[in-house]
Amino acid sequence: TAKEGGRGRAIDFTADLDRDRLNAAELENRLRQALEKQDIHVAYQPLFDAKGGRVCGVEALAQWSPETGRISPEIFITIAERSGLIDQLGMQVLKVSIDQAKQWSGLQLSVNVSPIQLRNPNFPADVIALLDQTGFDPRRLTLEITEGVLMSNPEQARRAIEMLRNAGVKFALDDFGCGYASIGALRTFGFDRMKIDRSLVSGLNNREGSEVLTATISLARALNIPVTAEGIETQEQADALTISGCDQLQGFLLGRPMAGSAITALLRSSAA
Ligand code: C2E
Ligand code: MG
Ligand code: MG
Ligand code: MG
Repeated sequence: TAKEGGRGRAIDFTADLDRDRLNAAELENRLRQALEKQDIHVAYQPLFDAKGGRVCGVEALAQWSPETGRISPEIFITIAERSGLIDQLGMQVLKVSIDQAKQWSGLQLSVNVSPIQLRNPNFPADVIALLDQTGFDPRRLTLEITEGVLMSNPEQARRAIEMLRNAGVKFALDDFGCGYASIGALRTFGFDRMKIDRSLVSGLNNREGSEVLTATISLARALNIPVTAEGIETQEQADALTISGCDQLQGFLLGRPMAGSAITALLRSSAA
């Protein structure tokens, strides 16, 4: 084996690479099976109106917990994107969360969509067909995409977004502030909302960080795009972001991702 005789790092390194490749292939197989058994669950994190503090929407988050323990979406979404399983996974999450959100009258539903899904020429028609089948009001659906959508073939993504927006679906630019999305792109893509990344929110405790945050929110406001702040963990952050002009707040302080039944209970208790 590579270790015998201690023949040096290069060989051990190759062994590591092989092991990682094996793990990825193994995970891919298990993910494929999980999708067949509809074993991907969806949790919902509430979004709050910054002014009144009311729940105004939920973000659907895919969760996968095989017997070996929970696997982070950062890992299984990447595997799904590389293996072509993302289209199936994405449509499953959309279907499950729309069926669930139908029970929450009026509530806005946000669903994450991978840039890879937007590159699939069937995507807009598939989403529109799902909305027709379920009778879900397209205006209640927001698709969250990251600026990765600008990477390859932004023209096709723009067309897909345009088709869906014409059908009434809304779009949010997710994780804004941690990448390089240009002002020009923000305008051409026509986003209905911007979500400020958690890394920017957590930078609030130093002067430079809070100035970057204020500038980012001003930029969105100059473009007339409403802003959601994500990853809020302290009351100080919630207050500062509300004062800076964010109209929606999301984060562990206000509500963690939870089962659909817990959202139903939350809506009942806040209506009472
Ligand atoms: P995201 O869309 O930016 O979702 C927000 C993530 O931040 C979630 O992590 C949520 O649990 C976490 N979060 C929310 N509030 C707080 C907070 O106060 N503190 C901290 N530390 N974290 C907070 P999660 O569920 O692990 O998802 C990670 C990412 O995986 C998502 O980031 C999204 O990019 C991706 N993802 C999740 N579900 C899907 C899906 O169905 N499709 C696609 N394409 N991507 C998904
Ligand atoms: Mg998101
Ligand atoms: Mg985000
Ligand atoms: Mg994220």
